Amino acid sequence: MSIVFTNRAAKIWEKDPLSVAENIEKIRKRVERAARHAGRDPEGITIVAVTKTVDVERIQEAVSAGITLLGENRVQEAGDKIRRMGKSVQWHMIGHLQTNKAREAADLFDMVHSVDSLRAADALNEEAGKLGKPLPVLVQVNISGEKSKSGVNAEETMTLIQSMAGMGNLKVQGLMTMPPYDEDPEKFRWVFRRLREMRDRIHQTGIPGVRMTHLSMGMSHDFETAVEEGATLIRIGTAIFGERG
Ligand SMILES: *Cc1c(COP(=O)(O)O)cnc(C)c1O
Repeated sequence: MSIVFTNRAAKIWEKDPLSVAENIEKIRKRVERAARHAGRDPEGITIVAVTKTVDVERIQEAVSAGITLLGENRVQEAGDKIRRMGKSVQWHMIGHLQTNKAREAADLFDMVHSVDSLRAADALNEEAGKLGKPLPVLVQVNISGEKSKSGVNAEETMTLIQSMAGMGNLKVQGLMTMPPYDEDPEKFRWVFRRLREMRDRIHQTGIPGVRMTHLSMGMSHDFETAVEEGATLIRIGTAIFGERG
């Protein structure tokens, strides 16, 4: 599915080869319009520029255009870039985390969006503790049940968050999801809505130490829908940097 999208996206962006800064400006305008349409303050939405496979020079262009959050989905690739670029911006882990990479992840990242098991949470908590660095995390929920996607299912989410609330070195700050790909973003609006409802329900439970501030949802092809449904962090790669090689 994602290959289909990549080819389609390539066609769109090839015809219109704007600079990274111009792409970001366009996205900002679209975010603002979607937010106002939904009666939200656009200030409540932050772009996470997804920089997997993107070289440091292009990432720097995004940072110069005002991007403050960068998303990577592989620990090693992120480590290489962070060592070259430094920590003048925040780096967020958005991909599936293998527990044997927990130490490096806890060290490198300012937030992990993709906690998808008790095992991963335990490993991050332990490593964050050793570093003396409390780590903000989101729980990735697989709302649609699509087999190829990581994430805990909706029923397990509350239990996992209750366990994580007792982990002194993790700061639970919300939920993340990734719907199946469809060119029509309306088709999976319900996934975004369901994640927001889950967030609100967990918030109402009032678990000590848990702040359900964030909804990380929306990518290049569906971020406006996600913003309308309450996204606070949108993860955008292709629409900023063009097709990944
Ligand atoms: C690659 C990736 C994105 C960005 O996808 P685009 O379609 O290029 O915007 C967002 N979230 C995750 C988890 C990703 O792996």
